[in-house]
Amino acid sequence: MGLSFDPDTLPFPVGHFINGRLIAAKAEIDMHRPSDGKAYAGCPIASAERVEEAVQSAKAALKASNWGRVRPRERTRVLHAFADLIEAEAETLARIEALSSTRLVGQLVAGDIAVTAEQIRFFAEFADKEGSDVVPTDDKTFGMILSEPYGIIGAITPWNFPVSMAGWKIGPALAAGNAVVLKPSEMTPFSTVYLAELAVRAGLPAGLFNVVLGDGVTTGNALTGHPQIAKVSFTGSTRAGSAIMENIARTGVKPMTLELGGKSPQIVFADADLDKAADAIAGSVLFNAGQACVAATRVIVEASVAERFTEALVKRMANVRPGPTWDEATQYSPIISERQRDRIGSIVDAAVAGGSRCLIGGRPIDHPGYFYAPTLLTDLDQTSPAIVEEIFGPVLTLQTFETEEQAMALADHPTYGLASGLFTSDLSRTLRLAREIQAGTVWVNRYSRSRDHILPTGGYKRSGIGKDLGRAAYLANRETKSVLISL
Ligand code: NAD
Repeated sequence: MGLSFDPDTLPFPVGHFINGRLIAAKAEIDMHRPSDGKAYAGCPIASAERVEEAVQSAKAALKASNWGRVRPRERTRVLHAFADLIEAEAETLARIEALSSTRLVGQLVAGDIAVTAEQIRFFAEFADKEGSDVVPTDDKTFGMILSEPYGIIGAITPWNFPVSMAGWKIGPALAAGNAVVLKPSEMTPFSTVYLAELAVRAGLPAGLFNVVLGDGVTTGNALTGHPQIAKVSFTGSTRAGSAIMENIARTGVKPMTLELGGKSPQIVFADADLDKAADAIAGSVLFNAGQACVAATRVIVEASVAERFTEALVKRMANVRPGPTWDEATQYSPIISERQRDRIGSIVDAAVAGGSRCLIGGRPIDHPGYFYAPTLLTDLDQTSPAIVEEIFGPVLTLQTFETEEQAMALADHPTYGLASGLFTSDLSRTLRLAREIQAGTVWVNRYSRSRDHILPTGGYKRSGIGKDLGRAAYLANRETKSVLISL
């Protein structure tokens, strides 16, 4: 049977995880499995009182464990043990993740989960290497910049890569000496609860990593507006990011990191290796059925090779085989919910009604659960909803250009600036355009992350504020204090 499993018999932890304990709670939000549409669980909603309990537990744990001021190598040691346990329990974690999300059990162990363990190790190693500075001042004074943890970080994650996104938040926050109260998405919360159980089993003092389940309105607002949450670290849609800014402005002032939506352009020049470009772009929009913030969504191809490139894309996007996330052999993911599948359909239909041609796909797949066919749209103008809206599904748009200026004008999105791709063999052009593109990431002759976790990720424009991953993410979990001493 390998990694495949029976979704009706898989045990998974339902409840909040506070102070090292699973706390059972009433099911309030109906949950359906994306792979077959079956109702299988209910997500509790943590009230403001429950969030308060999690925050007070984190505060007490910080004090009792002295986590923020303990010998930094001790934090490194505990986080390495946590990463070891994630690897040891990877199959269980993968099955819980695959049960409710769109992630495929066959991709999780060597993919998301292995990478999460690696990233926790990456951040663990900053704990005893990044420190405070003595700075140049005149000879009558002594100046220092002290680097300190914030205290309690309030983290909120989306449904599309639940374990990975939790890892991006807790790795740097804990390594930097903070406690975390994390609210996962109400659509995919259980793998995060299991992750918190593993952290405690690995030796993380209970209370330093608490998980509260719930929606944005009740639990999310209580968390981001809590006066003892020193900083908010959010990943999700731009709409929710702006609601969080509003709530923070209303309830006080605090720093925040926001990793938000995207609508990433890929510019393909005639001098590129077209087969490799088609592999990279189709691969990105097929991966997790396009439900990735950085998904390749807008192809902008030089007119002289457009026909050839379109054929190459269509070939790669045809004949996907949908299947349940719990079957190890499945390669094409469902859409997270019926509502989201219908939203994808309505944007595609509106584009077609507005004059766009659909070259492939353009419809749900006739299969149990919520599947949508890989879709390629062309003949679009810059105001089409298919160009402007983040669709968050397996939909690619294709536009053509004659000149570099036209390509750059098409690539420029009015609001998003998360990632981008350049496919060309011209080095000068690469360097010139990589500077010019308004996006937090530029991938050249590839369209995917590597396992070089030192590269930060985050958005330009309304795709976000601040960075995850890299040294930047560690430093974003530390506050600085200036000390000036008269000698
Ligand atoms: P979402 O914004 O609907 O929800 C994300 C999380 O925010 C959930 O936990 C949700 O409960 C919570 N939330 C919603 N409203 C809130 C509020 N007012 N206050 C506090 N919390 C609130 O996003 P989603 O549908 O779960 O995920 C998809 C989105 O996430 C896409 O826009 C995608 O681009 C983005 N995303 C971005 C990155 C990145 O690194 N930039 C990574 C993954 C996903």
